[in-house]
Amino acid sequence: MELTDTHTHTHLSGHGIGTVEEVVEAAIAKGLTTVALTEHLPLPTDIDRNGTFAMFPHEVPIYLQQVRDAQEKYPHIEIICGVEIDWREGAESFILDQIGTGPLGPGALGPYELLLGSVHMFTEADGSFWEFDYPPSIDGWTTRSEEGVWARYLELWTDAVNSAVPYTVMTHPDLPKKLGFKPKFDTREYYAAMAETAAKKGVLVEVNTSGAYKPVGEMYPAPALLKAFCDAGVGCTVASDAHAPHEVGRDIDKAHAAMAAAGYKYITVPTRSGDRRLIPIEL
Ligand SMILES: [Zn+2]
Ligand SMILES: [Zn+2]
Repeated sequence: MELTDTHTHTHLSGHGIGTVEEVVEAAIAKGLTTVALTEHLPLPTDIDRNGTFAMFPHEVPIYLQQVRDAQEKYPHIEIICGVEIDWREGAESFILDQIGTGPLGPGALGPYELLLGSVHMFTEADGSFWEFDYPPSIDGWTTRSEEGVWARYLELWTDAVNSAVPYTVMTHPDLPKKLGFKPKFDTREYYAAMAETAAKKGVLVEVNTSGAYKPVGEMYPAPALLKAFCDAGVGCTVASDAHAPHEVGRDIDKAHAAMAAAGYKYITVPTRSGDRRLIPIEL
């Protein structure tokens, strides 16, 4: 069946390698019909002083131009100009300011054609922050209860989905497990709440194959959460979250199998025009 990958990064993320063109060429070599570049939207400088987590603001026009150039150069593959946007407490206007205008905007999504939503960190009133999925910050798990982390994550995730940011897809929906913290408590209520929130807002979710290569050793979302999304009628994309060209399209067949096991009959693929198309799952 058709292969697509709607979540990839380049060296502009500050923690990946490869150029936009190398990602696209890897996608073509793997026979993908759609690839989305989804670099991290810049964070405030006090959070990302060294550009480790996201693009610097001055890199945004470079990124946009490189994706537009690739779209022109490789017309036989759909190349989506996307962005991954970190949701944080009180971040709404900071985000809207960045996507509302741009060198190629302003449009509904500013200069972008696809907005991925993610929660990677908690921020505090005193300006401190904790990136719960970042290996050097793993100690933060020792001073918090596991269920407390999930409860706060769920709160932020729900705020993100219900915010004015027009997210297309909520990525790696159960990211807190990444460093090996698979929830040991009963998650049914959490998963049902996430599915209900996504269904109500009409946002898509994503099977993200990168989790299998992290300490948790499992794709996002967990099978039970994916089933909750499917049961609630939430559409789902497939993606590698590649941070290097050789990871583009990685395990997309396994993502299809996970979706089928959860009850999905189709994968949903965002398009450049902001539309969505369905591809029947054939294993
Ligand atoms: Zn992410
Ligand atoms: Zn990502």
